[in-house]
Amino acid sequence: MSHSLYRQGTYESLSDDFVILTSPGRKFEDLPARVSRFREIGFHHGAVNVPGVQSSTSLRHLVYDNRENMCRTLKDLEKAELGLSVMVSGLRDQVGGCCQSIGLKPHTVNQSLGLWGRTEKLPPFPVLEITTMCGHGRVAPSLVWKMADGVKRQSLDVKAAGRQMGKLCLCNIFNEVRAARLLKGLVANIEAGIIALPAIPKKRAAIKYFGITIDDTRCTSCLECLPYCPVGAIVESSDGTGVAIDAERCTECGLCRQAKVCPVDAIVGMDLTWPRSLRGKFQQPYAPYRSVPGLAKASMAVSYSEEGFVFRRNEFPSEHTNDVTGLLGQGEAVIMVELGRPHLGATFRDVQKLLQTLGPLGLDLRQQYPVSDERSSMAEIVASSSEGVLLPEILEERAGWVVLKMVAPERKVSETVRRLQQVAQEIDTIFGLSIVSRVSKDGSTIAERVASETGVSPAVTCKTNVGLGRPLAEE
Ligand code: SF4
Ligand code: SF4
Repeated sequence: MSHSLYRQGTYESLSDDFVILTSPGRKFEDLPARVSRFREIGFHHGAVNVPGVQSSTSLRHLVYDNRENMCRTLKDLEKAELGLSVMVSGLRDQVGGCCQSIGLKPHTVNQSLGLWGRTEKLPPFPVLEITTMCGHGRVAPSLVWKMADGVKRQSLDVKAAGRQMGKLCLCNIFNEVRAARLLKGLVANIEAGIIALPAIPKKRAAIKYFGITIDDTRCTSCLECLPYCPVGAIVESSDGTGVAIDAERCTECGLCRQAKVCPVDAIVGMDLTWPRSLRGKFQQPYAPYRSVPGLAKASMAVSYSEEGFVFRRNEFPSEHTNDVTGLLGQGEAVIMVELGRPHLGATFRDVQKLLQTLGPLGLDLRQQYPVSDERSSMAEIVASSSEGVLLPEILEERAGWVVLKMVAPERKVSETVRRLQQVAQEIDTIFGLSIVSRVSKDGSTIAERVASETGVSPAVTCKTNVGLGRPLAEE
């Protein structure tokens, strides 16, 4: 998962934004104690996590608003010898410089090659700089506008606004300090007439009576919920007397309910039937593999060799723990394609286009994904794996995001990137593309070599596994 990889910003604005995260690469009997020590060290050096966001995953993330504190934390984590793998997300050169000053050797890097496809559909850059600090897209662009409006009217201060947005980020990687700074700049630009607050879109929709819906017997049309929908699916009802959820646009993420902003509890959840039920299942950041039978989170993990693609279920390499697992060796890469995020979502028609572009390499979903009784299983949504064809009834369903992960030998990566460049012109959404690889002896990565071969510019940020996991995998 690359939830911290697509933070947008200028070099200057990203220089006050670093995330340190930890994962155990093996089983530790005393894991809670080690994680607790990780946090103790992190907060001793001024981590700026939003208070009160608590989940098992949020406990493993530390957020910094300056390089010095991030670097001091790394230094102490190295001394503490916790044995946990540690990643740092942030400006490549700054993280690299910090590692060098401490004597740490970066082990594996996930390098973003940017957002591709219909990027013109994304919100304006100053808004995106704030929303992408929650990599799961839980901070809606319309919420940023609402906060900016509140600050402009002096009913809200920027710090409170930053915190309010940060509370929506389940991983607690939202940097509320940077958000406050960015929001202040946005408001100044609104006041100077450089950027305008958008009007509420006037689209109307019929009330839907399935999935997340609005109980029109209770709704008072206060409009409090409107800014919380990350895809702008809450609109005026077709009779103009209240609000409704646009069935086509809604991805059934449930965020409007989870935000708990409705004063009369009028946002309710109703059962979904196939194939609509597929929507919500593709955007649960922490759904464990088996909580949705047969579904490996919102991702499809595949590898390819001379024989073509093979879908893998277990033991898929992750940059988070590769220093210990060693599953990704020198000379091979994980290619990650994150379709639909931030904010646009993706239809399965777009997923199919992607599969078909890569399909000639021999997709076989069914080979390693056992068919389950549930129609939500990845294997169950494929009509023809060899041709990358999905079931026709799901093609217009919309997921918040779908992640494709492929392992490939280095010599195949450029070809894959070129195919993705081509499909980026054909889809009706965006995707983030990143490449994970071991750091070579000369300090370079596959992403850098591929970028120069294909003419793609790597992003200024990346995620670096700094090699603190123990025992280190054998070469
Ligand atoms: S459930 Fe639908 S309406 Fe509610 S926040 Fe998610 S996409 Fe928007
Ligand atoms: S917050 Fe509740 S009452 Fe207000 S518009 Fe939304 S559903 Fe209706």
